Amino acid sequence: MFCLSPSFSCFRFQWLRIVLPVIALGLAATGLHAQSYTTALLADGFDYPCGKPNGAGYYVYRGFSPNGHLGEDWNGNGGGDTDEGDPVYSTAHGVVIFSEDYRKGWGNVVIVRHAYREKSGQIAFVDSLYGHLKVRSVKVGQQVTRGQLVGTIGCGPYRMYAAHLHYEIRKDLRVGMRRDLYPKTYATYHHPRSFMDSHRSLRMENRHVRVPINTFLKSNPNRVTTDAIDVPELTTGTTVRPEVPDNVQSVIQEETDLEEATPTKSKSLFEKLFKN
Ligand SMILES: [Zn+2]
Repeated sequence: MFCLSPSFSCFRFQWLRIVLPVIALGLAATGLHAQSYTTALLADGFDYPCGKPNGAGYYVYRGFSPNGHLGEDWNGNGGGDTDEGDPVYSTAHGVVIFSEDYRKGWGNVVIVRHAYREKSGQIAFVDSLYGHLKVRSVKVGQQVTRGQLVGTIGCGPYRMYAAHLHYEIRKDLRVGMRRDLYPKTYATYHHPRSFMDSHRSLRMENRHVRVPINTFLKSNPNRVTTDAIDVPELTTGTTVRPEVPDNVQSVIQEETDLEEATPTKSKSLFEKLFKN
């Protein structure tokens, strides 16, 4: 709304300046923006996602390249679609944080979050992503172990690719399905095989650790949602007529009576003329 006279017209909106910051403070105080966590078993090592544990029977057709292909395309040695429906395994212990048909370009995607101990002793996290799956066999929040089935190799939506697994490992936990929002570099991603090779065998601690969740955007720009439009019912009910004041109604009544009388008047007029 336009504020032509600040001293008067905008006075009614002044209270918002006070109330909105108070609401924001209140939300912050109640912890609504606080980070949420779950737990996951600390990884004891990372295996290859196909032909577990060492990738037997599979090869990487297309590798990782910064600002290019942000993961690896795993294919069966048989070529073509011979690997369609083959099992895809979680690279390590972890918790499923995404399992959805993301549609356009991606199809079925599973993301597993892993906690592991770096050589320094620090606990670190990575996300492994499994794309173009034919089927997904895990759901969000599910704990998975190293080598557990997460889905099968597919051809992507509308069978747009020869069957393969698109596989990524991310160090930045904010990416999720929005790769467009973050640098397509080693600041965000690991080279998958280099990471797995250097973390194949970790100390077995059999310990659950706290894992941050809800760290990335859930919105899907591929999904067009159309809410049902509220259309008023036009085919039933009585016809609504405008309210007419009594004095107008009496004029209408008068005019109507006059209309009815007119033929008689016309007739008499015609007769008069005829006689003349
Ligand atoms: Zn790929």
